[in-house]
Amino acid sequence: MVDREFFLGFIKIHILYHASKEPIFGVEIAKELARHGYNVSPGTLYPVLHRLEKEGYLESSPRLVNGRVRKYYQATGEGKRALVQSRKKIRELVTEVLYDR
Ligand SMILES: [Zn+2]
Repeated sequence: MVDREFFLGFIKIHILYHASKEPIFGVEIAKELARHGYNVSPGTLYPVLHRLEKEGYLESSPRLVNGRVRKYYQATGEGKRALVQSRKKIRELVTEVLYDR
């Protein structure tokens, strides 16, 4: 399999996309990524989430769910802007890589 580092950008954009739609927590993100064929371990996922938060693309807020605290992540304004930029780049990339144009 191709190194996961290679797909890290895809994973980040994916996280940003879902976090821009609604607040999402770690396990939910991991399941969603797995659904798309990215099997990301917690040891990879959590540092990515923390980095995205530190860089200002995500913000987290704790929520009490069934007596346990869960950290929900949501895209910031900057995160949403990064997503808009990413969409343009993805369109450009897809047009060339998939359609050879
Ligand atoms: Zn998804």
